[in-house]
Amino acid sequence: MQVQGKTPSYTYKPANNKGQCDSGCAQSDSFAPGGQPVYVDGWAGSAQGHFVSKAQFQEWMRQMPKAELHTHVEGSVRPQTILDIADQYQLPLPAPTVEELKQKIGMRQGENLLDFLKKFDHFRFVFDRPETLSRLAYECIDDNARENIVYTELRINPRKNTEKVSIDQVLDSVLDGMEKAKKDLGVEGRLIASINRSYPVESAWEIARAAVARKDRGIVGLDLAGDEVNHPASKFAEVFEYAKANGLGITIHAGEARGPESVMQAVELCHAQRIGHGVRLHEDPAAMQALRDKGTVLEMCPESNKLLNVTPDLKAYPLKTYMEFGIPVTINTDDRHIFDVNLAHEYTSLAENTGLSLQQLQGVARNAVQAAFLPGQEKTALLASFDRDMKRFESKLYRIGGPAAG
Ligand SMILES: [Zn+2]
Repeated sequence: MQVQGKTPSYTYKPANNKGQCDSGCAQSDSFAPGGQPVYVDGWAGSAQGHFVSKAQFQEWMRQMPKAELHTHVEGSVRPQTILDIADQYQLPLPAPTVEELKQKIGMRQGENLLDFLKKFDHFRFVFDRPETLSRLAYECIDDNARENIVYTELRINPRKNTEKVSIDQVLDSVLDGMEKAKKDLGVEGRLIASINRSYPVESAWEIARAAVARKDRGIVGLDLAGDEVNHPASKFAEVFEYAKANGLGITIHAGEARGPESVMQAVELCHAQRIGHGVRLHEDPAAMQALRDKGTVLEMCPESNKLLNVTPDLKAYPLKTYMEFGIPVTINTDDRHIFDVNLAHEYTSLAENTGLSLQQLQGVARNAVQAAFLPGQEKTALLASFDRDMKRFESKLYRIGGPAAG
């Protein structure tokens, strides 16, 4: 849109720019990834230019098309839903109000992995019934759709309260919920079955077989999560060999509690095409090079790493270093209602803390589509529609969030 001779465009002003925008909003209020304030010329069809506030930038991030590859159903249960389900089945309420429940299940900086695991004790009952599992999966996709996540890979560990729901029932119920979400919301999603590292290998086999049996229904991958320190991925090498031979994508949590050698084990012994976190990979430049050469994708989850004290200060978060080195990186929430985040927050936070530009964030969003565990044709179609969505986003960027009146 061209108004009074101005073509909309955004720039990053030099850090020492002490100017004000045309309408008088001060640079000091503006959002400045990498210390450089974002400035838009000709915003919202106005002849005036404006510095972008953090809230406005986050609204850009909300409306930008995105994909998410690393979302655990278990950590993404809405607090309201926990109370609803307790009420529906006449179970003791874990807290009288949503706010009080959020205090109990929300992770705070300084807490540790044990504290994190204890959060789930407050609401394990929500995983005990097929119908509630369907609801949880549906709501995960719904939450993502609300911030323009056009494709989601959910993951769940299907070994729950086995007296009440079998592995097969968990997977089928989650797939039912995702199917309904696709019908209602028109948003694509696929499922990854997750294995806990501390399980016996036989249990991992059960999960892998159940996942392979549901490839036609939307299971696209197998994951390994849990205690990285005491249970090396090598223990499950044969299970992942089987998953690979049967066409499942492989993603493994690694390089979070342990260093780069754990990532290399996941890649070399278990055929991981994607690594959950990999936040400690930078400790070994040779491992970084190996991942770049293989094109292994990192599913990074900044707020999770911050709150679990892997990277307490996000200014030191290595995502930008990896990206500039040539490793494909993606941004994810991990457990959005435990860490109380959304994906737009994560994108904004990385811009703020590590200086990622809008263009780099667009590239990261596209990486997630490219790294989806989808067969060739489906991925080509998804990429094409994603690129169209991104163009549409760019064309309306200068009207999103508009400058404050005055
Ligand atoms: Zn995870």
